Amino acid sequence: MKKVVVVGLGNVGMAYVSNLISTRLADEIVLIDLNRDKILGEAMDLSHAATVFNTSIKIKAGDYKDCFGADIVVIAAGLNQEKGETRLNLINRNNEIIKSIVKEVMQGGFDGIFLVATNPVDIMSYAVRKYSGLPHNRVIGTGTLLDSERLKYLLSQKINVSTENIHAYVVGEHGDSSFVVWSKSTIGMVPILETVPKEDLEAIEYETKHLAYKIIEYKDETSYGVAMCLIKITKAIFNNENLVLNVSSPVDDIYMSMPSVINKDGIKGTMKINFNEEEMEKYENTKKIIKDAIDSMEV
Ligand code: NAD
Repeated sequence: MKKVVVVGLGNVGMAYVSNLISTRLADEIVLIDLNRDKILGEAMDLSHAATVFNTSIKIKAGDYKDCFGADIVVIAAGLNQEKGETRLNLINRNNEIIKSIVKEVMQGGFDGIFLVATNPVDIMSYAVRKYSGLPHNRVIGTGTLLDSERLKYLLSQKINVSTENIHAYVVGEHGDSSFVVWSKSTIGMVPILETVPKEDLEAIEYETKHLAYKIIEYKDETSYGVAMCLIKITKAIFNNENLVLNVSSPVDDIYMSMPSVINKDGIKGTMKINFNEEEMEKYENTKKIIKDAIDSMEV
């Protein structure tokens, strides 16, 4: 029996749950939100959706007692960026929300793996780890997995090659200081720096970093991309895939995105990258931005 509890059933939480049903990754899904009427209605609607495929997934509006025996608790509760607002701006307001949620989840007897989507996701993942007291491998943030998928999409559009053959990744903060590790990026086995002009790569990196702002300008929020990233992580855990994903993971004394191996235990390990000089500077910069944000947090 695979049990997933989702806290926060707004745009992101609902996009995740509907995909969790269609991928049949879970046997039991529990919804928790401040808005009780909404989740009562959503649980009914989703149960009917599950029935369309003749699945026997149990879906209910629950409470924190349901965290007992859950394999995964997904946190997608919290405030969203306003137009033009940075993710880091949300830090203190979402920290308060995360603190109260994690306390209740742990009081409910949870002993599984947390997946965190709430922004700023690296800092909120750090906070979830701290407030839960769980081992570091059992708290994972979506991090730059979404940014890496956006990067692959843009590159594939530019050079007309399947995303499957594009090995290019974003690391660091899921935010303005993230960067692409071009020195290690390849198309198939050919170094990308030998095939695509540097100016084009720089333009694509800029666009990758600014896509969220653009989407929010148009539709006020982003949700499907991160929801599918949550699905990918959930699948890697439930199927014990040992899949390498750029997710927010413990790095020294903070959380940030580096390639991490994900399996049934959560984060099996996080890899080090042999950066060139320019990338090392960017790495130190993004790390410092996250560290300063954590230090500034009202705890
Ligand atoms: P939303 O406003 O649509 O939904 C948030 C939900 O959280 C609401 O249903 C609200 O009732 C609930 N909530 C708030 N406080 C709660 C509490 N204390 N306990 C239980 N439920 C609570 O927001 P959204 O668009 O779904 O975004 C959710 C979060 O995900 C935001 O922080 C957003 O920035 C983040 N996000 C992250 C990524 C990423 O890549 N990591 C991408 C998109 C959005």
